[in-house]
Amino acid sequence: MSITKTIYIDMDDVLCHTARGCLTIIEREFGKQIAFEQLTTFDLGQACGLRAEEIAELFRIVHQPDELLRLEPMDGAVAVLNEWMAAGYEIAIVTGRPPSTYAASIEWLARYHVPYHSFVVVDKYRRFPTDNTIGITLAELANYRFCWAVEDSLTMAEYLAKQMKVSVALLNRPWNRAGIDHPIVTRYDHWPEIAAALPNGLGR
Ligand SMILES: [Mg+2]
Repeated sequence: MSITKTIYIDMDDVLCHTARGCLTIIEREFGKQIAFEQLTTFDLGQACGLRAEEIAELFRIVHQPDELLRLEPMDGAVAVLNEWMAAGYEIAIVTGRPPSTYAASIEWLARYHVPYHSFVVVDKYRRFPTDNTIGITLAELANYRFCWAVEDSLTMAEYLAKQMKVSVALLNRPWNRAGIDHPIVTRYDHWPEIAAALPNGLGR
């Protein structure tokens, strides 16, 4: 039996500060000041009191290359990924961004010297069609094998743990405080804490 040494790494709010980038755009475009701690639900529209047209406009803006390239990297992430590569793990970056953001996402990863073996675009939240794109569906993702996953989304943590039986490191964020209690989902506050959990923290 071959042992998978591929680690799933989410991109937004795991490698880069996407929510903070969205808050900057919301203030600039809609004149609304929302604190990071107020983002207590994954639904930005609900957390920020945005109308449907505003949330559509926010997503249109944040997915533009110049806005994506402006996102700040998360502290410690790159150093940890380099350690894992050196230890023989493969890094798969698995994003829920739409296929149109591919080039800017790859450019951002290069700019911050993020090491990885593969980059996978998945329609995690049923937000875009995947036919004739580089994107895959959640059902297709289930054919992939991972030894561990780092996520900030409760719905993805639940999918990975329940449907794919993959242990998840859930990065604590205001929007995932309430929710999942699953034996193979473990919460962490920051990247160094996640790093300290490998390999004993894999939980299986
Ligand atoms: Mg994320």
